[in-house]
Amino acid sequence: MHDVVIIGAGPAGLSAAFWCDELGLDTLLLEKSESAGGQLHSIYNPINNYLGLTAANGAELLDRFSSGIESADFDLWTEAEIESVDVNAKRIRLRNGEEVKSIALIIATGVRRRKLGIPGEEEFAGRGIIESGARDRDKLAGKDVCIVGGGDAAAENALLLSGVCPTVTLVHRGSSLRARREFTEKLQSVHCITVFKEATVQRILGGDRVEGVEILRTQAIKPFQMAVEGVLIRIGVQPNTELIAEQLNVDERGYLLTDAHYETNVSNVFAVGDVSNPLAPTIGGATGAGATAAKVIATRLNR
Ligand SMILES: Cc1cc2nc3c(=O)[nH]c(=O)nc-3n(C[C@H](O)[C@H](O)[C@H](O)COP(=O)(O)OP(=O)(O)OC[C@H]3O[C@@H](n4cnc5c(N)ncnc54)[C@H](O)[C@@H]3O)c2cc1C
Repeated sequence: MHDVVIIGAGPAGLSAAFWCDELGLDTLLLEKSESAGGQLHSIYNPINNYLGLTAANGAELLDRFSSGIESADFDLWTEAEIESVDVNAKRIRLRNGEEVKSIALIIATGVRRRKLGIPGEEEFAGRGIIESGARDRDKLAGKDVCIVGGGDAAAENALLLSGVCPTVTLVHRGSSLRARREFTEKLQSVHCITVFKEATVQRILGGDRVEGVEILRTQAIKPFQMAVEGVLIRIGVQPNTELIAEQLNVDERGYLLTDAHYETNVSNVFAVGDVSNPLAPTIGGATGAGATAAKVIATRLNR
């Protein structure tokens, strides 16, 4: 029996674990992937908006976080595959048969990128489907690329790649881009960027690697094909709430609903970080929420 079990070791879960330990709570942190860090592993740009720290990328910030918690005394189980969670009983069953129980539960499972769900998307993963414009910029030099999406991430990547790619085609299903004005204005002034609005990518084409995309414009009857060697999909994110969504109150997009102390509708079950923060997800917000939940739990347990 632990005082606290935390699910997810991104910034929110790491901060919660650090604070729980500081406050004398017996803490177990469960992470499904092979290492802690969450989305920090996907940030290839400099991070200069976390107060008091700057880092060349997410990996560097994670190094700083890791050295800050080196002496902390909580258990971290990586590659922890959770089979089921009973939020009322605060009981978690792992795929390997183990069961863990706690007085309080902190859910810090973050978000993952949404997928298009179209033919070719899985098949060409790592073979022309680009993970990050910043990371893969050099590899894409001289290649035509297609970016799917209309928000900040899509526009920022289009601008970034326009410096090295002969053509960048942005495909967005809406009638206007959602990206901030600073980006949309710049997009208009770059010759090699074409924006198709009210259009969707129907298929990703190729042999061994991506060779093209099939695009359907809303008003058109037939799709057309376009040759590209890289496809970047940036159509937003979705919360990782499958394990618990049916037991807790969620909004219409599946984000967990909490009160000001990050407590869900079930007593002593907290949800911190991006998984409960669709409006303003940040590293600072995630670490702050983790700290708040830990302090509330410690106060309740008289620590
Ligand atoms: C490209 C990019 C750039 C960004 N730049 C910035 C920036 O400059 N400044 C900023 O403040 N923010 C930035 N962010 C956002 C920031 O990274 C997130 O707000 C932050 O990582 C959220 O932390 P989190 O712990 O809530 O979730 P996550 O980082 O998503 O971590 C969740 C963790 O939970 C684990 N998990 C999920 N499901 C389970 C399960 N069932 N069992 C066990 N573990 C599970 C995941 O594997 C993951 O490790 C950026 C994000 C991206 C992708």
